[in-house]
Amino acid sequence: MILFLVLFLGRIIWRYILQQLNIGHLRNHGKEIPPVFQGIIDEATLAKMVDYTYDNSRLETKEDLTDDVLELAILFLLLPVLVGELAGLPLHIIWQALIFFGVLAVIGGVAGMPFDLYQTFVLERKYGFSTITWKLWLTDLIKSVIISTVLMGIMLSAFMAFILYLPKSWWFWAWVFFTAFEILLLWLFPVVIAPLFNKYEPIKDEELKEKIESLLAKVGLKAKGIYQVDEGKRSKHTNAYFTGIGKTKRIVLYDTLLASHSQEEILAVLAHEIGHWKKKHILKQLIFMIAASLVGLYFVYLIVNWPPLYSAFGLKQTPVYAGLLLVSIYFSCAGFFFSPIGAAISRRYEREADKMAHELTGTSEPMINALKRLAKDNLSNLHPHPWYVWFYYSHPPLIERIEYLKIMDQKNNT
Ligand SMILES: [Zn+2]
Repeated sequence: MILFLVLFLGRIIWRYILQQLNIGHLRNHGKEIPPVFQGIIDEATLAKMVDYTYDNSRLETKEDLTDDVLELAILFLLLPVLVGELAGLPLHIIWQALIFFGVLAVIGGVAGMPFDLYQTFVLERKYGFSTITWKLWLTDLIKSVIISTVLMGIMLSAFMAFILYLPKSWWFWAWVFFTAFEILLLWLFPVVIAPLFNKYEPIKDEELKEKIESLLAKVGLKAKGIYQVDEGKRSKHTNAYFTGIGKTKRIVLYDTLLASHSQEEILAVLAHEIGHWKKKHILKQLIFMIAASLVGLYFVYLIVNWPPLYSAFGLKQTPVYAGLLLVSIYFSCAGFFFSPIGAAISRRYEREADKMAHELTGTSEPMINALKRLAKDNLSNLHPHPWYVWFYYSHPPLIERIEYLKIMDQKNNT
């Protein structure tokens, strides 16, 4: 219990400190247009960027606090009652586990709904991003509920079955199962799940297509893997990403990005994504996750039947599914403090991809222009606090990326 409280309160305090530092930093520097953005953004745009960051940060704080209160309420009020009730039902323990996590998922989903609605229909609309209709929002919700119910149902049933029938070695077999399941999902996601939400098509613009093909030929990739997606039906935010493994590997460009960027900039963004592809970033992350999950599962095995885990939270019964929830809460509290490791790896990958963009296009200029446009179009925070960046940022801050690209150009010229 003491460990839980230390981790739980530590997370709240540290999160609060970082947020205050970040907001304070913005308050002090928010009126300065960074030199690289001179002439690109005016004071009005900068003010809008700052307000957007403030608004998002405020919403995030409220959502985090709601989540924390809810977590405590579930742990100390609901959990003992729910476990007691389920134990009294004449149901197989796998069914009990499914109902148990189903109830928790519904509570979490309902609690998060107002924040999602506010963000989509108020905040994002206020800044002119949101284009989504109520009908689309609702169909998205229904589809994701169905998909996650099926996937979570399969994973949880399998997990419970391993624990029940292989009490000494379940952690290993569960790891084998999860690894296979994760690889399968990563492979299927671009071709089965993502198309349920969007239409993926080959790039339509013929002239751009030819340029893309010649860029891809340089690295021995085929244009078959380049798609555009109709994200404009949800929001005006612009983006591009790399996804899939094996034969389903692909680079996806938002239609909004294609509409707002010049051909040169689009090619630079594409070259950046090719960098992720060529440097095998998804594969490396996958291997890291697989290794981490083996260690994690073995730890769960060691601790999940330990009686003090249950008695610390006032539980009289010790059904293993309740233990899984408790262990996962410890994991997520403790895992929060390890965020900088994942963030640092991701930032290193982004720098490698930026380097590739420079190498493939032979110059940093288009990538720098693309980054500037991305920042302006998405109202990015140009003044994040360094500690906030260190802890959370998956990408280096824009100014840093631009500086890095500029240095590469200077190296070229000397
Ligand atoms: Zn990237």
